[in-house]
Parts: sequence; C-alpha cells; structure tokens
Amino acid sequence: MEYADLVLAGGRIFCGLNEGFVEALAIADGKVLATGTTAEIEALTGEKTRRVDLGGRVAVPGLNDAHMHLLMLGIGMNEINLRPESGVRSLEEIFKRIAQEVAVKPAGEWIRGGGYDHFELSEQRHPTIEELDAIAPDHPVYITRTCGHVGIANSAAMRLANITHDTPSPSGGLIEKRNGKLSGLLAESGMRVVTDKIPPLSRDELKAAITRAAGFMLSQGFTSVMDAAVGMGYGMEELHAYEELASAGELPIRTWVCIYGNHDGIGDQAHAQGFRAKRQTGNLRYGAMKVFSDGSAGGLTAAMSEPYVAGDPNNFGIFCYSDAEMHKSLKHYHELGYQLAIHAIGDAAIEQVLSGIENADSAEHPIKSRRHRIEHCGFLSDGQIERMAKAGIDPVPQPMFIYEFGDLYVANLGEKRAHASYPMRKWVDAGLHPAASSDAPVTSTNPFQNIYTLVTRKTKVGSVIGEDQCLTREEAIHAYTHFGAYTQFAENETGRLVAGMAADIAVLSKDIFTCDVEEIRSDVVCDMTVLDGKVVFERQV
Ligand SMILES: [Zn+2]
Repeated sequence: MEYADLVLAGGRIFCGLNEGFVEALAIADGKVLATGTTAEIEALTGEKTRRVDLGGRVAVPGLNDAHMHLLMLGIGMNEINLRPESGVRSLEEIFKRIAQEVAVKPAGEWIRGGGYDHFELSEQRHPTIEELDAIAPDHPVYITRTCGHVGIANSAAMRLANITHDTPSPSGGLIEKRNGKLSGLLAESGMRVVTDKIPPLSRDELKAAITRAAGFMLSQGFTSVMDAAVGMGYGMEELHAYEELASAGELPIRTWVCIYGNHDGIGDQAHAQGFRAKRQTGNLRYGAMKVFSDGSAGGLTAAMSEPYVAGDPNNFGIFCYSDAEMHKSLKHYHELGYQLAIHAIGDAAIEQVLSGIENADSAEHPIKSRRHRIEHCGFLSDGQIERMAKAGIDPVPQPMFIYEFGDLYVANLGEKRAHASYPMRKWVDAGLHPAASSDAPVTSTNPFQNIYTLVTRKTKVGSVIGEDQCLTREEAIHAYTHFGAYTQFAENETGRLVAGMAADIAVLSKDIFTCDVEEIRSDVVCDMTVLDGKVVFERQV
C-alpha cells in the first residue's frame, strides 16, 4: 500500500464548495492521496510520514490570484515602498524615505518609489518637483502614484529626459506645468518620456524580480497566479525571463501567462516565436492574450454609456480603440487560439468587448469552450451578464477595488452604479466563474482583505457598497481557488482538495470560516503553504 509523505490533521480542512470539510488529509507524490476522518488518514501513515498538527487551525486549497502582475510586483519590491498601508500618510514620510535612499546611493543613480496615494496624505496633494529637488539635488528621482497612471519626477530626472519648461505634453499624456514651469507631475504617455531614460533591467534582474514576488505570494497562501500583461514593460525579454526560470525548474509558483497584446505589445511576435496557447514549461502555462479597451472608474477613464457625475458632465470615459479595431484584434487572437483576457471596466467598454467576442464566433472557431475573460468587468447590465453566461465568458474582478475605491465610485458614478459594481452574487447565480484577484501592485495582494471584502462589501472607511452582492465565506474561498483554476483550464488539477489533484494547500492562522468577520481582515495570516506536496513556506513564530 501507498503511505503518505505528509499528513495534515487536528483542525478542519476545506476541500471545496461541494466537497465541504474533512478532519484530515494525506499527501503522496505531490498529490492528494486521500481526505477523510483522522482515523482513516492515520491508517495511511508510515515511518517516513511527516505530520502537521493543525492545532485547531483551518487549511484550504492553495489560493489563486487570477489577475495580478507578478513581474511588476517583484520590480516594485526593490523600489521605495510608498503605499499608505506601509505608513505613508504625509509628504514628510515620502521625503524621509527618499532621503534614506539618497544617503546610501551614489549621486547620479536612479531612485525609484511607488504606491503613494495623495488622497491618503494629510496634505491631500502630490509632491512637487521643488520638494524632490530639495532632498535629492544630484539623484534622478521618479516616483509613481498607486494607480500607475501618474508619476512625479525631480529636475535631475527631467534633465536626463531632456524635458524643459517648454516641452509640450505628448499625445495621450501630460507633462504638467504651473505658471509656465514644470510641476514634476507626469501622466500616461507623459510618464514614458522619463521612464524611457531609466536603464532597463537585465534578464537576470527580471528573473530575480519574478522569484522575489513569487516567494512573497507563497507566503500569503497563493500557489497559482496569472501574470496579466507579460511584455508590457520589457517586451519579449519578460517571456524569456519566465521561460528560463521555468525550464530550470526555478519558477516557484504556478503561473498562467497572459501576453500583452495591445498594438504596441508583443502578441504577434510571441506567437511567431512559439509562445502559443497550451504551451507548458514546468510551472509556466500559456495562454491568454491581453488587450485594453478602456481606463479606470477611479480615474474617470472607464468607458461608460452614461456620463460620470463627477468632473466634466460630458465625460463618458475613454476607449483605447475604435469598435472596428478592437473587434479585429479580438477575432485575430481568438483565431490564433489564445484565451482573450480583455481589460474592460465601464459598461460601454464591456459592450465593445462582448459584441467583439460574439462577432468572432464561427463554426470553425466557436467561442463557447474558449473561456474568454473580461478583466475587471466592473460596471455592467443584467443583459450583459446573460450574454456572458450564454457565450461562456467569465469576469475576473478585484474585490479589493470595492475596499479601496468603493467610495470614489460613489463620488464618480453615483450611488446606483457604484452599488451595482462588481456584482459577485449575480455572476455566481448566473453560473459564471468570477475568479477573485488583486491586480497587484495596483492594490495589495493580501488575500484576507480581499476575502473580507467579498463577504462584507465594505470599503476602507466602512461603508457598504451593494450589500446584496455579498458572498458566503465558503463561496469567497471558492472564488479564490476553484474559479481561478477554471479560468486557467486547471480545474481538474488545482483549486480543490480531492484525491488525485495537486496537493496545493494553505494553512491559515485562524478558522476563517468561523472567526469574527473583522478578524478576517485584521488577524488571519497564512502559516504554511504546500505546493505539489512540498512545504514551500512556513511562518516563523
Ligand atoms: Zn492588471
């Protein structure tokens, strides 16, 4: 008989929404050998079996972040962290952290930071070029806002980019001036003028960034992720970095690749070089293709059928492409065999994408089994949900957007549209697979904060946005495990704990199903992560 390599017992193990809870679980050869009562599992132990006593804790299937940016997250981890939750609540704190870097880096070296949110600063504004110059006269400094759509540069950085007070804003971007002088603020394509001058990372540095971010994800209970726009920063180099790691068996986490396929992306090049759907290299699997159709609701740029209520009364948001261009792109990538993973947030953008996917349907290339996805999918009508269900198109939402931006949605779009946003309950009831995700580094990767939002629909100030769209805790875990696996064609391998499936498991510090709901956000952490039956993370206490 086969003995277990590893046994979990002494707590509760959530095996899946339909499978429910068991007392104990045995692992052999990287797979779940059996689940059952303590006595049943005890019978499978031998001399070499390692036992993990849950001590009343709970274990769940390894979590899956179905839309995040692993490489970007890893790159950001090497830059100055300016995120509010790290304690950045004032400009003074930003300046202090930059000054610490200035003190240790040779003059002339770039100083990068990211994640600040001026709405979370006591001053309620961005830093200025003069303020950055005062701390760093001899280092080029460039920091970005949490959204990634706005950055601030100092004079040394502007000089390297040949930007003067007379430089006009490029099309589709902003180089801001106040009273005829540079303010330091750059937006959208205006940011590129500076970022193009920052020396690119080497392939080894890209690999190190992936490894760093993957280790961080494992420490939070994740065993699978999707990198949602591979090639967006460093083109084909990013694919090569991933491939090198994976082929050496050094990619620490299961990664579903989504290739950046905008017109300035690498879609056709990647296809020509063999990075096609169904390709697999170790932990690395292909293949989704990402195209952007609009902006964001927080930034007033998601494309809406009705105007925003904040700002310009005639603002309906922006489309990245005309209907004709978008439909051509969707049909093209669909026929090349890729899973479409299309960024669409506003209902007008969702309409453009939905009709485009519907138009791409043909006898030769049917859409039904392709599991195309709409990334974010924030604001949509009941009719659009029905059409998604009919065509088998899944939404990939970020519950954290409700937590972080829910109040901003009310301000930008009014109560009714805000409360109807990211309708998890309606999607689940329609039989869709809304796979929970973070879009990190746009928001925090913290899965417990995300799960908290799924079950409470509470924002960071405590208002409740669309209470009727709450999920149960079991459904929330299901959205973070099985739904993610489904969107990656992996639902028979990961996302549930059933004999024969991969032994991907997260042991949590508390019973997330029974603890006080506020504790989900404030107290629960991951204590241990198992991937392919191996303990890949253990919290040191
Ligand atoms: Zn994203």
